[in-house]
Amino acid sequence: MAYWQNWSGKLSQKLEAVHFVRSVEDISAIIRDLAPGERVRVAGAGHSHAPLVIGGERILDLGGFSGVKNTDVHHQRARISAGTPIYTLGQALHSSGLALRNQGDIDRQSLGGACATGTHGSGRALQNLSANIESVQLIDGEGCLRELSRDSLGEDFDAVKVGLGAFGVVTEIEMNCREAFKLREVSFQRTGDELVANLHQMMQTHERFEFFWQPRQDQGLVKTMAETDDAPEYPIAKEGERCGWNYEVLPNHRPHLHTEMEYSVAAADGPACFAEIRDLLMNTFTEVQWPVEYRTLARDDAWLSNAYERETVTISVHQDVRVNESDYYAACESIFKAYQGRPHWGKVHYLDGENLASLYPKWRDWWRLRDHLDPRGIFLNDFLARVRPKR
Ligand SMILES: Cc1cc2nc3c(=O)[nH]c(=O)nc-3n(C[C@H](O)[C@H](O)[C@H](O)COP(=O)(O)OP(=O)(O)OC[C@H]3O[C@@H](n4cnc5c(N)ncnc54)[C@H](O)[C@@H]3O)c2cc1C
Repeated sequence: MAYWQNWSGKLSQKLEAVHFVRSVEDISAIIRDLAPGERVRVAGAGHSHAPLVIGGERILDLGGFSGVKNTDVHHQRARISAGTPIYTLGQALHSSGLALRNQGDIDRQSLGGACATGTHGSGRALQNLSANIESVQLIDGEGCLRELSRDSLGEDFDAVKVGLGAFGVVTEIEMNCREAFKLREVSFQRTGDELVANLHQMMQTHERFEFFWQPRQDQGLVKTMAETDDAPEYPIAKEGERCGWNYEVLPNHRPHLHTEMEYSVAAADGPACFAEIRDLLMNTFTEVQWPVEYRTLARDDAWLSNAYERETVTISVHQDVRVNESDYYAACESIFKAYQGRPHWGKVHYLDGENLASLYPKWRDWWRLRDHLDPRGIFLNDFLARVRPKR
C-alpha cells in the first residue's frame, strides 16, 4: 500500500502503488500490465488543489523525466521532458538565449502538470503555458508512444493542450518560446474604491498587471512589470521591486499552505465581478483574511483553456488550509457563475459535468478524442468519471 498527498496536504490517498518511472518502456509496461478495472494517474509536483492526481489505483511520478532535450533557436522552440520543474527551466533556456513567454506566480510546478491545467501568469496579451505547446510526446491508454501535433491531429490538437492527464502520459513537450528578456517590476497601493473605479484603465495601461486585494484593510497591492534593457539588479530585491531576467522576476515565494478557488471571466466583466467579490468579503465573510488576486490573460484556442476564445481576467480567492473553506468558496462560486466564469482546473470548484459542458463549447469533442486515445478508460479517475458526459 502506498500514500500520496498534494502540496497543501488537503488531498491525500492510500493506493496500490506510486511508480517512480524512469523510461518510456517503464510506463508502457505498467499500462499494459494493469489489472482489469485498474486506473492510473500521473503526478507532477502535486500543486493542484483539485482532485486530479488522486482517485485511481496507481500513480506515475514523472520526476525522473526532467531536463531540456534540445532547443531550436531559429524557430524559438524547446523540447522539454514533461516532469521538468519550471524552476530549472529558466537558466537552461537562457543559455540558448530563449525564455518561456510567460509563467505562473510560482515556479514549483512540473511543466507537464502546469500545461495539463492551463497554468497562466498575468498579461493581457500573454497566453497561458498550454497555448504555447507546439507538440507533445504521449503514451496512450494502450501503452503506445505517440507524437501529437497539429500535423498529426489537425484541429483536434487543441484538445490535447489542456489535457487534465486524461489523454495519457505526456513524456515530452515542445514549447514555443521567445528571445530572453528582462523585466522591471513596480508596485503601488490602491484602495478598494480606487481599484474598482480605475480597473479598466489600469488593465489597458499596463501590459503585465495584477493585484492582491486585502479584505481587512480594503487595500490592493498592484504589481506591474515592463520589459527593460536595464541591467539586472542583484541581489534580487523583494517582490514588487525587482529588475532581472524573466525567470528571476516572475516567480514568487508562496510558503503559506492554503487552498484556492480561481475563476476566469470575460475581461470586460472583470471589474464588476471583482466588485461583487469585494462586497461579499466586506459584508458577509468578514472573518476571511486571505487576499483576492486579479490577473489578465489573453485568449487562446485550447478547447478546455479557461481563456478559450475570450479575452480573460482571472480572480482567485484563498483560504488557510486549516480552515473549512466550503461556505466561502460556494458563495464566491455563485458570483463567478453569474458571469459565466470558468474554473481553473487545478483549483477548487464544485461544478458538475453539465455545468462544465455549458462553459466549454468543445466539451464533447474533447471527450471523443480522449476516449479514442484511452478506450479502456484507464486514465479516468473519480473526478473525470463524475464529470464525463453521459453517452
Ligand atoms: C502555491 C501555488 C501557486 C500557484 N500559482 C499558480 C499561478 O500563478 N497560475 C496558475 O495558473 N496556477 C497556479 N497554481 C496552480 C498550479 O499551477 C496547477 O495546479 C498545476 O497543474 C500544478 O502543476 P503540478 O506539476 O503540481 O501538477 P499536478 O498538480 O501534480 O497535476 C496536475 C494535473 O496534471 C496532470 N499531469 C501532470 N504531469 C503530467 C504528465 N506528464 N502527463 C500527463 N498528465 C500530467 C495530472 O495528472 C493532473 O491531472 C498554483 C498552485 C499553488 C499550490
